[in-house]
Amino acid sequence: MRIIHSARSVYEALPEVARMPIGAVSRLLPVPMRLGSAFVEARREAQRASALDSEELYFQTTSKLRSFLSEVSGAAYCRETLMGAGLEANRMTLEGLATLPTCSKEDVREHLADFAAPMPHSGRKWVMTGGTTGEPFGFWLERDASARDWAYTVNAWARTGFELDDRRVVLRGVRLGARGSRRLFAYEPIRRELYVSVFDLSDEHLPAIRARIAAFNPRFIHGYPSALESLGASYVSSGEEPPRLDALLLVSENLYPGQRERLESYFRTRTFSFYGMSEKVVFAAECECSHELHVEPLYGIVELLDESGRTITEPGVVGEIVATGMMNRALALIRYRTGDYAAWAAGACSCGRHLPRLDSVHGHRMQEYLLGATGVRITMTALTPHMAVADDVKRFQLIQNVPGRVRLLIEKAPGTGSEVPKGFVEALEAKLAGQVTVLPEVVREIPPTERGKHRCIVQEIEE
Ligand SMILES: [Zn+2]
Repeated sequence: MRIIHSARSVYEALPEVARMPIGAVSRLLPVPMRLGSAFVEARREAQRASALDSEELYFQTTSKLRSFLSEVSGAAYCRETLMGAGLEANRMTLEGLATLPTCSKEDVREHLADFAAPMPHSGRKWVMTGGTTGEPFGFWLERDASARDWAYTVNAWARTGFELDDRRVVLRGVRLGARGSRRLFAYEPIRRELYVSVFDLSDEHLPAIRARIAAFNPRFIHGYPSALESLGASYVSSGEEPPRLDALLLVSENLYPGQRERLESYFRTRTFSFYGMSEKVVFAAECECSHELHVEPLYGIVELLDESGRTITEPGVVGEIVATGMMNRALALIRYRTGDYAAWAAGACSCGRHLPRLDSVHGHRMQEYLLGATGVRITMTALTPHMAVADDVKRFQLIQNVPGRVRLLIEKAPGTGSEVPKGFVEALEAKLAGQVTVLPEVVREIPPTERGKHRCIVQEIEE
């Protein structure tokens, strides 16, 4: 029995005042009853994986891959791919996997029925994501996949001292309140989450938001780095004390140089970030000792491919993250191209885990590049060092409609006036090396995207 999942729709329809006692009672139940056996098993699996040496990890990953492929072999895509390569699910090796073709989000969108593994309707649910390019993406998710994903998340957060039921403020792209109405807060008593609307982190609402957070007394704040930055800066400008936190749990956005340091100084605590996707094909998180992302191979097997499709094994070489996710048996996502880029980290981590590590993840799914007058692409990674040197810039956004020219929106740091920060603009122009003309404008506020995230580049050129 899973209290949360089976009764969720009924529960979510209740008003907050009715949810409170349910939350309080449900927290008294044993974990398997509240979160289900899928959660318990996945948490055990994640804990075990941390203790395995490379050889055991290789063995366990191979064995999980074989059972996953057998379970999704009812999907036409899986059957045909294996047949085409002359390989069998129950004899598959990691080397064999690397010879199979890759698939993309577009493939899944166009041929969803081929990727879907037959299963009873009650075993899966339909998930829609906003998609960073604005095009919605729908797919099947095994009903237990979310519980397994939550288990891996809790396991990773435990490295910061997090325990189930610790009070958490959440700043993610969830619209609060019913359709048409806007709310600043929503409380979820089963998980003890206080949701704060990321669309309302403005001077008008921040005092009320800080007061509610102080009264809630959280141990963790979880959310988008850009949203946390707005909140954090407001503690500095208002002179109010931030809550005493064990960590900031970051998700879903690129961390720009200097941003981590600013967040840690605003909130006087450490940051901890992890990487995952709605498709549940990959999970990687930091550890106690390092900011490198430790990949969980029993969740999803990660490969890095260069532009010609070659597998990258050496550290420091950036390639696309291609993942074979084993958490969602409703879909045969074998060697799925994520559109995100990373490089392998060198050497071993002092935490002693043998999990493979990514140095950091660059999200190219947001099309974060500018087009120069000659058609050259200038990526976000090349531009961001300037964020760190500009004390008077809180955030900026580059909006490009034509190659060779870009609107630069600048939101100034509190108390730095409204004039264009010359040094920042000049440094940016120098980096663009005459390829792109910059038209700077100081604005009061740069609005977040539909999903409440901040984007540094809004690329509006049709390709
Ligand atoms: Zn480590």
